[in-house]
Amino acid sequence: MKAAVLYGKGDLRMEDRGVPVPGAGEVLVRIRACGVCGTDAALFRGEYPAAFPVVIGHEFSGEVAALGKDVGGFKVGDRVTADPNVLCGSCGYCRGGLGHLCSRVSSMGVHRDGADAEYALVPAVNLYTFPETLAFEEAAFTEPLACAVHGVDLAGVRTGDTVLVLGAGGMGNLIAQLARLSGAARVVVSEPIAMRRDRALENGATDAIDPGAGDVGEALRRINPLGADVVFEVAGHVGLQAQAVRLARKGGTVVWFGVAPPDKVAEVSPFYVNENEIRILGSYNNPFATDRAVKLLAERRIRVDNLITHRIALGDYPKALSLFGGRDTVKLMVTMGA
Ligand SMILES: [Zn+2]
Ligand SMILES: [Zn+2]
Repeated sequence: MKAAVLYGKGDLRMEDRGVPVPGAGEVLVRIRACGVCGTDAALFRGEYPAAFPVVIGHEFSGEVAALGKDVGGFKVGDRVTADPNVLCGSCGYCRGGLGHLCSRVSSMGVHRDGADAEYALVPAVNLYTFPETLAFEEAAFTEPLACAVHGVDLAGVRTGDTVLVLGAGGMGNLIAQLARLSGAARVVVSEPIAMRRDRALENGATDAIDPGAGDVGEALRRINPLGADVVFEVAGHVGLQAQAVRLARKGGTVVWFGVAPPDKVAEVSPFYVNENEIRILGSYNNPFATDRAVKLLAERRIRVDNLITHRIALGDYPKALSLFGGRDTVKLMVTMGA
């Protein structure tokens, strides 16, 4: 089978490998679509720790091709997507109900082989079925949507809130839609790329700011004079993460959702955070959110079809990484053919 294998920083190779055989508790999935994520780009740039060599890709959907021993609840041909994070089940975090922070987590596409390949092995406990009404490339949004659901859970968006989303790429677009679904009265996106702003407005954001055209804080305060009840920083840019703190209202919440390079530091005034009682939260992975993400997609409460700007055949995977982040992109989708 064809697979996109990352050997280290900047070293991605297309390989031909044998189709893996599912062990006990595992399912062999024939991959049909796999989204390209900021984490994949960060892995390629050497900005995210991983176990090399590894088949890249963790936002996928496909069909069950074969079942390992002792797998119940699935049959060959089922349409499936997955939570790619395999938890140890026995560390202090797993036992404490915080499995997404598992000390020994093994994530597909990072620590174990992922889904930019024709087939992938997935533990059955990580698999979720989805209905035929949902296209494979739509279902491939399950993992990023589940992460967005967790971020919105943590933030505690309330009905009537003003929510600011800094960065309206694929993930920012999902968070903006979830904020609207959670009852926010105003969902404001700030994004330098016009096409991404347009998609956000099309999908339910109420306002879009071009940060290149003027001061974001001023534009925000014209919409809500106190500032935002909740600010999501989705770009993973430390300057923006620092700025986010001053865009929240007093007592407001800031979610650092974007993944910043591990060696970068944000300059935030503790005095300001203290005096204004700002809540700053990290949001990591997708605990108890995958099931809800599948339902949101299947019930068409979240729109993803218009976020896909590029479809790239698996054989052209290196092209996907070179396109990532470009001004004409929102979401890149790797497809594995019919
Ligand atoms: Zn991802
Ligand atoms: Zn654990």
